[in-house]
Amino acid sequence: MIEQALTKPNQNSKKNNHFIVEKEKHLLTVRNLKKHFIIKGIRGNNLLYALNDISFKIKHGETFGLVGESGSGKSTASRIIIQLEKATSGHVFFDGVEISKLNKQQMVQKRKDLQMVFQDPFSSLNPRMTIGKILSEPLVIFNIGNSKTRKNDVLELLDLVGLNKDFYERYPHELSGGQRQRIGIARAIALRPKFIICDEPVSALDVSVQSQILNLLEKLQCEFGITYLFIAHSLNVIRFIADTVGVMYLGKMLEIGATEELFKNPFHPYTEALISANPALNPHNRSDKKIILKGETPSPMKLPSGCFFHERCRYCQEICTKEEPPEHIFGTREVLCHFPLK
Ligand code: SF4
Repeated sequence: MIEQALTKPNQNSKKNNHFIVEKEKHLLTVRNLKKHFIIKGIRGNNLLYALNDISFKIKHGETFGLVGESGSGKSTASRIIIQLEKATSGHVFFDGVEISKLNKQQMVQKRKDLQMVFQDPFSSLNPRMTIGKILSEPLVIFNIGNSKTRKNDVLELLDLVGLNKDFYERYPHELSGGQRQRIGIARAIALRPKFIICDEPVSALDVSVQSQILNLLEKLQCEFGITYLFIAHSLNVIRFIADTVGVMYLGKMLEIGATEELFKNPFHPYTEALISANPALNPHNRSDKKIILKGETPSPMKLPSGCFFHERCRYCQEICTKEEPPEHIFGTREVLCHFPLK
């Protein structure tokens, strides 16, 4: 079970770190982000509503976990934040700059500070290049150092991610899944970015390896003060790694809160159902505590009226079917619901 493997070596290590003092400032602000894709069909075009007005902020040095079922818009949000996709509308501010307004060349320079770790590192590693070449590439692109200093930098990167210097001459196909993910992480930190988006970085790995990779990400965060946006569909992984959690459903952010508070006391009916259905988070596995969600997630091409969750919500009342829920703020908790569970 993942909850057994995910044990933190030192729960206080992050709290003692000097980067914590910067946590009051926000490194990333996402405001009213919308993304609608045009889907071409035989009978004309349709719109797919992937993101429907989401807003959130991430503080310096924290890990913001984004959780939700497939199709909830997590990956679309991350691709827009890193500007691999353009938003239909809305704003993304990074380190005080509205990066959604930057041109291509300005964005290339910003990429030094914004990196990404992918779910499947194998597909993002060139099979014809040695690991040494792959890790040197960002340094070459940004004209950092010369061939000798770059080799030393790459050896240092390998050491930072727990691999020895023999890996310098190896090829991606010679590596295990966990080793490849370590290379993906090494490449992401090569330019010492401020911010890394981790898009399901452990979901393809064995449970024991997941734990090692998560601990490695935490170690690097402590060492370099990196801020993470961590995307996962596993609540256990999110609970382990995240300081703050955002729960997404059909392109909406339904709840945001500090991790432990949110897991112990969810305010949104959807968060409550997700947590109750997870045996590791509902430890006594009491069937009376288990909430079975009715039906399926509606199509993002045909969004429900009112609250997007109303067809599956056991607390639904008439107003929920007609009117969009307001956002309630309770301290650091934000909840999009007519009747929050508080
Ligand atoms: Fe349930 Fe209504 Fe809240 Fe939606 S707004 S989650 S239907 S109680």
